[in-house]
Amino acid sequence: MIKRTAQQIAAMCGGTIDERYADIKVEGVSIDSRFIDDAVLFVPFKGGNTDGHRYVAQAIESGAAVSFWQNDVADAPEVPLIKVDDCLIALQKLSQSYLKEVRPTVIGITGSNGKTTTKDMVASVLSSKFKVKKTIGNYNNEIGLPLTICQLDDDTEVSILEMGMSGFREIALLSQLAEPDIAAITNIGESHMRDLGSRAGIAKAKFEITEGLTGLFIYDGDEELLQPLAETFQGEKQSIGFKADNDLPLRDIQQRDEVISFKVGSSESIFELPMLGLHNVRNAAIAVTIGRYMKLSDAEINRNLAHLEMTGMRMEKLAGPAGSTLINDAYNASPTSMKAAIDTMDAMDGSKYIVLSDVLELGPASEHYHREVGRYFAGKDMTLVATGEEARYIYEEAEKYVPAHYFRTKEEVTEFLRSRLNAETRVLFKASRGMKLETIIEALA
Ligand code: ATP
Ligand code: MG
Repeated sequence: MIKRTAQQIAAMCGGTIDERYADIKVEGVSIDSRFIDDAVLFVPFKGGNTDGHRYVAQAIESGAAVSFWQNDVADAPEVPLIKVDDCLIALQKLSQSYLKEVRPTVIGITGSNGKTTTKDMVASVLSSKFKVKKTIGNYNNEIGLPLTICQLDDDTEVSILEMGMSGFREIALLSQLAEPDIAAITNIGESHMRDLGSRAGIAKAKFEITEGLTGLFIYDGDEELLQPLAETFQGEKQSIGFKADNDLPLRDIQQRDEVISFKVGSSESIFELPMLGLHNVRNAAIAVTIGRYMKLSDAEINRNLAHLEMTGMRMEKLAGPAGSTLINDAYNASPTSMKAAIDTMDAMDGSKYIVLSDVLELGPASEHYHREVGRYFAGKDMTLVATGEEARYIYEEAEKYVPAHYFRTKEEVTEFLRSRLNAETRVLFKASRGMKLETIIEALA
């Protein structure tokens, strides 16, 4: 993590400090006065309800070495302060200066779905050769990203930054701050539709990641909305996807039990991913492409993919009753990721059920998107079990193509599944986090 004197920090963020405090040693940054490690820089924010400045003295008491203090706030306490015009901008400037001093290769990852997964995969691939730091959890916004940068060490070689957004110009800010050497867009989905108006709006907002980009641009080439945007990008670029006309088509995809094998581009190297979900092939291919760009051999990349560590509730396989298999993908959902889950189930053997519930926050087009998911069942092989008000639209379309059941409550879903489970059955669960589908899994297991 960042280790500098208070004076150096003041210079890096454009703030001022009383000479008395210039030589104080600072290690790390905290924005929460309840979690103060020794010697950190405390950053108070003037938020909606509370003003972090009220906790500055307390943070210093708890061990913080120094604190930012915004010039327009009165009654500064007599403690070591770095005075700044705006605490958020100062934090961003500090991280930007620090990044320029550490000079790692910076990799920015955005997209509607798959950012965290791809970030974890890229980190696994590169860690055998480089000293890598990645975004912790979901620290991917205007505050989280600078904090992640401040976590880097002076000898960090690769910084992998997840970039999230809920509106226009947010990714642009993050990209201009971090100036990535490599940037990737995993996919375009439907989240934040309410703020961005359309999927085209979402694509445009994600494409802002190229604004600070200095090197390679990697994107989902199966997404028609990204193609025309990518054409406006002058630098080096690679489209990845299942369609054959991509720069790097994904070929020879085979799913066996828990492993999917695939090839990336024209090379005959086979990669093996110890994970379910065809969408994860796309994410892994981004990691492969970045690995190759960073001069790792295909053999080394494949070895590193084999040791992936993933976060819970993303395609997590669990033993269910009567020898059945339950697949928990209830962490979150969008129409796009639901379709990806339908494809995943379609590629599996056995007697298959997919339990779907509502995708929340889709705005006025919600019914349209749920019906579209329903129509996606055309030609697919599985039984649908739907519950939830919006998921009724999925059911109404899907029942034209596959065996389908609709239940008003999760209890009824649980009862229904219990009567169907045996050693051959596989059940995948997917919905927005707020629908709490995992309660069915808990009841069954
Ligand atoms: P968040 O916005 O919550 O940070 P994220 O973009 O980091 O999400 P992940 O946490 O990696 O996304 O994955 C969330 C879910 O999205 C997965 O469980 C999976 O169902 C789906 N998903 C992952 N990758 C893709 C992809 N490339 N295309 C479509 N769906 C995907
Ligand atoms: Mg994430």
